[in-house]
Amino acid sequence: MKYKFLVLFGSMLVGSVMTSFSFAADAEERLASFMNQYQDDYKRMYCDVSYTWWDAMITGSEEAFKKSSEATLAMSNYHADAAKYAELKKLRAAAVNASPIEKRAAYVAERSFEQSQISPELNKQLIELSSEIEQIFQTQRAVYNGTEYTNNELLAMLEKETDSQKRYEIWDALKQVGDIVAPKVIELAKLRNKAAQELGYNNYWEMTVSFQEFQFDELLRIFQDLDCLTTPLFNKMKAKLDGELKEKFGVERIMPWHYDNPFFQQAPPSATVDVNEFYQGIEKEDIVDISVNYFKKLGFDVTPIVANSDLFEKEGKSQHGFCNDMNLEGDVRILCNIKPDVEWMDTQLHELGHAIYDYNLDRTLPCNIRSAAHIFTTEGIAMTFGAKARDPQWLVENRGVSPERAQEVNSALQEQRLREQLIFCRWTLVMTFFEKALYENPDQDLNKLWGEMTARYQGLDPLEGRNKADWASKPHFVIAPVYYHNYMLGELYGAQLRKSLEKQAKGDPVKFGELLKENVFMPGNSLPWEEFVEKSTGEPLSVEAFVDELQTADSQIQ
Ligand SMILES: [Zn+2]
Repeated sequence: MKYKFLVLFGSMLVGSVMTSFSFAADAEERLASFMNQYQDDYKRMYCDVSYTWWDAMITGSEEAFKKSSEATLAMSNYHADAAKYAELKKLRAAAVNASPIEKRAAYVAERSFEQSQISPELNKQLIELSSEIEQIFQTQRAVYNGTEYTNNELLAMLEKETDSQKRYEIWDALKQVGDIVAPKVIELAKLRNKAAQELGYNNYWEMTVSFQEFQFDELLRIFQDLDCLTTPLFNKMKAKLDGELKEKFGVERIMPWHYDNPFFQQAPPSATVDVNEFYQGIEKEDIVDISVNYFKKLGFDVTPIVANSDLFEKEGKSQHGFCNDMNLEGDVRILCNIKPDVEWMDTQLHELGHAIYDYNLDRTLPCNIRSAAHIFTTEGIAMTFGAKARDPQWLVENRGVSPERAQEVNSALQEQRLREQLIFCRWTLVMTFFEKALYENPDQDLNKLWGEMTARYQGLDPLEGRNKADWASKPHFVIAPVYYHNYMLGELYGAQLRKSLEKQAKGDPVKFGELLKENVFMPGNSLPWEEFVEKSTGEPLSVEAFVDELQTADSQIQ
């Protein structure tokens, strides 16, 4: 899992009180004064959260986790203050002549307060129920053939198994957790809806996308466009892939367990090329050097970032990869567990993509908008860089691969990339539309709905007679609710940005880096995302550039 750690709420030290005014300041001055105090509080507690969290991720110690959750709680308690929320609302409405930056910072702050206005009792129930389910996910071991296995063990077995019946049994074992957690996940969805209704929304899906600054119709239109425009490409790709798999497994019909990924969210490995051939014989430290040298070519010196980062495996340390801006003043760090292979080359470039974004933000911006324009913009940047690890031209320039070999594998690498993009895209359609339906009506037949949606969007053969909560075996509904669409929007933004910057930079890497810095990184979260996307790419967010890339790749595959 690769993600960006985002601090959502601001902060205040206990006992800090707003000063009252002895003079009749105008609305703009009063808003500025409120926001100055807010920014100080925000930064102080933001730092508390990020440093304690970093500690917990590095050490895994219970003490560190305790401190980290205390800091997070303090931040959300601060924003739960109804009087402060009301005051900010009033000041913001009155301060019509504040500068655009001040208005934006005040708006973002107000939304942070709004999110925290859920009643404390309900909030407590939400936290308890979701951590109860998370714990089941972490500790539950699937039983296969009478023996308990971890998820990773089962995934490794599925990759190697050639017998279709056994593949089905392993796949089925990977879904066991679904039926165990499903009733609790439904209960959680209802509780979340209750919280959303407290804040005046119809349901939790609507509330969450609203806090992510999306208009429902706009978001749905993008995913409907994606559905229409990728269907022919996906069907063509899947027919070929299924043909290969039929031959490989000696079967007439391809079922969900014939893909290595139990949700069919990733492509099975290419039969013709293994990118790891280009990472053979290197040490884990080389992955770091390759990334540093690559970013240097774009004009980004990442050595201060790397120096503060924690890059290799350690006892107790988090096994994921992520990036965090620790203090909003340049202490940007990544956490990785590098092994000398293509997966970690991808992750290293991905996390450093987030990192150069954070590192190059305009540090004169108010603290609460000194962050990426949106989750999907920073993911778009990170995914663009991560994909380089498998890009033939990048491999020639950064891994010393001979142009002849790159030419030989060019078509196979492009085809694999196309498969990954299409398969992931169709999967995000399932996640987005299913999750919306889940919160709209948690009492409907969700098992049936999941079967219909995976058939409709992923072309999976429906499993006659199966009435199991396969959907609930996906932990994202619990741990990262209403988030998945952001990965896909990141892909769309990334494609749109590549198109626009490549046109302007004309192959000059330094120019490319400069444009990135000026147009994308510097503005931070000073604009609503619609405006930001249009300003940084010249067009409103759409599926066009992404679909163009897919069509070009499709036409070039031999
Ligand atoms: Zn990421």
